[in-house]
Amino acid sequence: MSITEIKTLLQNAGVVGAGGAGFPTYAKLADGADILCINAAECEPLIYTDLTICREEMAKVAHGAELIMEATNIKHTYVAIKGYRAEALGYSDGEAVGKNVTIKYLPSIYPIGDEIGLIYEATGRLVRPGNLPITAGVIVMNSETVYNACEAIESGKPVIEKWITIGGDVPEKIAFKAPIGMRVSEIFKKLGIKVDENHSVIDGGPSMGSIINPDRAVVRKTTKSLLILPNNTRAIEGKQISMDDMLRRAASACCGCTRCTEMCPRHQLGYPLEPHKMIRAALNTVVEDHPELIATASLCCSCGVCAEVCCQNISPKDVILNLKKILGKNKIRFVADKDFPVNPDRPYRLIKSSKWSDMLGVLKFDKIPTYLPKTLTASRVEIAMSQHIGAPSVPCVSVGDTVKVGDMIANAGAGLSVPQYASISGTVVSCDPTKIVIEA
Ligand code: SF4
Ligand code: SF4
Repeated sequence: MSITEIKTLLQNAGVVGAGGAGFPTYAKLADGADILCINAAECEPLIYTDLTICREEMAKVAHGAELIMEATNIKHTYVAIKGYRAEALGYSDGEAVGKNVTIKYLPSIYPIGDEIGLIYEATGRLVRPGNLPITAGVIVMNSETVYNACEAIESGKPVIEKWITIGGDVPEKIAFKAPIGMRVSEIFKKLGIKVDENHSVIDGGPSMGSIINPDRAVVRKTTKSLLILPNNTRAIEGKQISMDDMLRRAASACCGCTRCTEMCPRHQLGYPLEPHKMIRAALNTVVEDHPELIATASLCCSCGVCAEVCCQNISPKDVILNLKKILGKNKIRFVADKDFPVNPDRPYRLIKSSKWSDMLGVLKFDKIPTYLPKTLTASRVEIAMSQHIGAPSVPCVSVGDTVKVGDMIANAGAGLSVPQYASISGTVVSCDPTKIVIEA
């Protein structure tokens, strides 16, 4: 199969990055890479979705990699997974799980799932700041993405369900599959999970995830986990401070100690990102004089290390996120045309995963979940037209239409985009340019 044929199959099936921002997978495939890194690092605490996929479906993940390699110039695939987790699954470092597909042990550090750090640890290659991984000859895909790619290439199966971990302060941690668009409150009801008033629900990890309302939030193609955590957990408290309050705190309390920069994982890899300077920039003391400094905000991966190590309880991450929005609107980003050396102090500044969990106050909730092999059934799904990077999908059904599971309900938009499919059989009860609602 040619690379063009595979790209068409992946786009038609609506395959997007399942572990990050939802970048359409077909657009990642291009000539110029010789290594595929399957990201099963799962660096955020309490999440075991990739581990579950690697335990239950490694053969399909490896076969997906083989199919992608056949159509490209990629010579080798690493299934990159934390060493202790791979060991628990019975895999040794370097073990072959497919033709030219081998296990690669990663160190248990945070944020090892960040693709720049992952590429460095798995291949020894360093992506130049602001450049795409393919410039270093590497394509990175999440394990679930490769699983979905295998199904799309082999049988044309569209992406209609999602692997999820439920964890945190719940009696039983669970890993399962749910139809895309299923309401979170219905998932909890089916699984007998109650959320106390003094707890919050996060879609994503404790560091990078967002607090959601289970009565309104639905499963998206990028939903990796649903974590239920007490409101007095450090991870939740850090998400409840408004940007105005954070800027005020930064203005009055930042002592310029530079600890946030010293510990920044991207800075450690040599990236010219210095969060302590971003604080000053956001306070408008150096913006006009140093526009190139502001552009380096685009190099931040939002890991949140800078916020957790700040002695003044300031979150440079949030300040940088604000700057990134402004940069994004103006289509400005930092792109290096030369290499930057890795900081020689890096080995001494790495944060162990267990230490990171402890810093966020969630270590006590860490437990491998029980896997439920049967996909949950939903009475209603709400499928967003924009759950990927690029143009929104365009509905091709109308209210009152009957649809079967797997039917196309929205075409890909113009340019970078993917179509959407019905994740349950039923009747379309609502349809607008932002979402389609189907009732079983
Ligand atoms: S660690 Fe905190 S106080 Fe120190 S420079 Fe960074 S933001 Fe300022
Ligand atoms: S969130 Fe902070 S520590 Fe993480 S990459 Fe961005 S600036 Fe660095």
